[in-house]
Amino acid sequence: MARRVVDVLVPVALNQTYSYRVPDGVELNPGDVVSVPLGPRDVTAVVWADNPNPDPRLHNRLKDTGEKLDVPPLRPELRSFVDWVSNYTLSARGMVLRMTLRMGEHLGPERVRMGVRLVGAPPQRITIARRRLIDVLSDGLLHSKSDALREAGVSAGVIDGLVDEGTLVIEPLPRDLAPPAPDPSFAEPDFSPEQRIAADTMKELASKDGFQVALLDGVTGSGKTEVYFEAVAEAIRRGRQTMILMPEIALTGQFLDRFSMRFGVRPIEWHSELTPRTRARNWAAVAAGDAPVVVGARSALFLPYAKLGLIIVDEEHDQAYKQDEGAHYHARDMAVVRGSIAKIPVVLCSATPSVESEVNARKGRYKRVVLPSRFGGQHMPHIEAIDLKREGPTRGRFISPRLAEEIKIAVERKEQALLFLNRRGYAPLTLCRACGHRFACTICDAWLVDHRFRQRLVCHHCGFSMPRPHQCPHCGAEESLAAIGPGVERLQEEAANLFPDARTMVLSSDLITDIETMRSELNEIAEGRVDIIIGTQLVAKGHNFPRLNLVGVVDADLGLGNGDPRAAERTFQLLNQVIGRAGREQGRGVGYLQTHQPEHPVMKALVASDREAFYASEIEARERALYPPFGRLASLIISAGDRPTAEGFARKLASAAPLDERVQVLGPAEAPLAVIKGRYRFRILVKSVRGIDLSAYMREWLAAGPKTKGNLKLEVDIDPQSFL
Ligand code: ADP
Ligand code: ZN
Repeated sequence: MARRVVDVLVPVALNQTYSYRVPDGVELNPGDVVSVPLGPRDVTAVVWADNPNPDPRLHNRLKDTGEKLDVPPLRPELRSFVDWVSNYTLSARGMVLRMTLRMGEHLGPERVRMGVRLVGAPPQRITIARRRLIDVLSDGLLHSKSDALREAGVSAGVIDGLVDEGTLVIEPLPRDLAPPAPDPSFAEPDFSPEQRIAADTMKELASKDGFQVALLDGVTGSGKTEVYFEAVAEAIRRGRQTMILMPEIALTGQFLDRFSMRFGVRPIEWHSELTPRTRARNWAAVAAGDAPVVVGARSALFLPYAKLGLIIVDEEHDQAYKQDEGAHYHARDMAVVRGSIAKIPVVLCSATPSVESEVNARKGRYKRVVLPSRFGGQHMPHIEAIDLKREGPTRGRFISPRLAEEIKIAVERKEQALLFLNRRGYAPLTLCRACGHRFACTICDAWLVDHRFRQRLVCHHCGFSMPRPHQCPHCGAEESLAAIGPGVERLQEEAANLFPDARTMVLSSDLITDIETMRSELNEIAEGRVDIIIGTQLVAKGHNFPRLNLVGVVDADLGLGNGDPRAAERTFQLLNQVIGRAGREQGRGVGYLQTHQPEHPVMKALVASDREAFYASEIEARERALYPPFGRLASLIISAGDRPTAEGFARKLASAAPLDERVQVLGPAEAPLAVIKGRYRFRILVKSVRGIDLSAYMREWLAAGPKTKGNLKLEVDIDPQSFL
């Protein structure tokens, strides 16, 4: 009798499933996680469907499935989600599946993990490696083997040797206990009347199943977090899991503390910085339903929740939600999709909603929940423009006299000031004053950025770096190199000159080695141990610095002129958010915008605190140009090791586009970032009316079009956020 056959989805860059035979005596159902042979290796994969009528000619050639893993099966709603995301983004289904299986190295049938403990005297023959390991274990406690090896920086053989000598013993580690559960009634806040209304709406929303999207729209400092915690509390009471997405893990430090003040314990975290062990433990807790609340980066979307009941997307407008490597997907949009498949409520949160969400709220597709004013009667910051054409700083300086004067006053009052500049490093360009030579990356179409703290010139696209030379490599002149333009490090230098007694701190992602350091630096600021903070967008978001009352935006125009259809929106959101850090707890916040274009609609809307004016003009402009959400966009990015190959392929591809009067194919054009890591890049932009299945159109096009070969690469980006 023929054995049962199942179709298995493997986590590799393929769309189709593979058929495998199920060995006798093994019970396998759709969703089960199994090990299967794939070529020369075994991979962890998922049974996607039964195959009741396998091709009899192939049957005997099929391989058997391997071990079934002792984890809960992936639920139908998660499998549908994987199918949906793959279908929409045109990413291989196996690659989307892979994001759900990132459970770390310890996945598998209940594996007992082994630990190691120091029990005897050191051996006669002592090596440096042995000494290091013994030092790590000197507390006499049981350490996990892998942790001890990592900490000591030695190989596993060192343990074996010391076990033979009787210095160490191996013992099983106790199993991890389930984390304590958050208590929905631990510390309920006193809400203001307007917060109360919003909080009740949140609670109501989370009190029942059914797909619904709410836009929690509240000014910075209005208490959005406290308010959506009421939805979380309700979900916990109902025994359902909540997923809270944050655009950046930098944000989670203060958040974890606030969560534990409200619920008594910290939530489970999910992001790329977790150790393999924590990752494995958290994945298992989510899958078993033992993690009532998960806070994470966009990848938390793909976790196998046992009983998901609520999704919250904090700072929903943030562009960090778009993943542009591997599978191109927008986590906010996919969160809404996941909510609709799972039939559960979704809360999108922002002080400056994306134009897409704003339009959805205006059209009634999303329920708008408003928090119109700051908590505790704090005023919104007062905003002024500083016209760099009239009152700019002297050459080579970047802080205008007026801004400097205001910072001086703030520091004297023992308040904090934030200088915001979205540019890492010391200077974006270095040139030779003698011959004009500019330092560029050898494999990217980009200048090298001077990083003084690291003493190197760095390419921000490929990571290439070199020491800053003393001599021009082009003309040989000595000490002729000049830094052009500012980065945060240079601003710190200027601030230190202007305010020699003030304590300054630079916060920039490249200076932060690990998340714990970043959290402790943010705490130092919150505790008032810094007078002047100089930061990139890392400080713009979400943080609460009680003594910060002044924000100076050093170059408000920086994001405007780059040909991106969302440039105005981004600038409005970012500046609103960074200035929103000011005056949250006491005193009046002020924001200064140093700009060359004080008449620009974005600057005018910010200065007038007229959000409506901004959305009205932006929505009208999008509607007129048929840009999202009134039309749809997709990008094709073609790259190759040489320019003619990339361009030739891009042209052939463009001419193979199916004719459809609802779709416009623009390009190919050389990408604004024409070369990255030695690869020449061309872009095709596809623009369509709103009501068409653009993914299907793209799929049909790519199926009929020329195929990539050699080192040609084609990336598909549906709903692109970046146009570089
Ligand atoms: P938002 O996310 O809207 O910018 P937050 O949720 O961070 O605002 O709230 C701003 C500050 O006000 C936080 O320090 C928060 O703890 C505090 N806060 C807000 N609402 C309350 C409340 N009802 N009781 C006590 N503190 C509150
Ligand atoms: Zn480079």
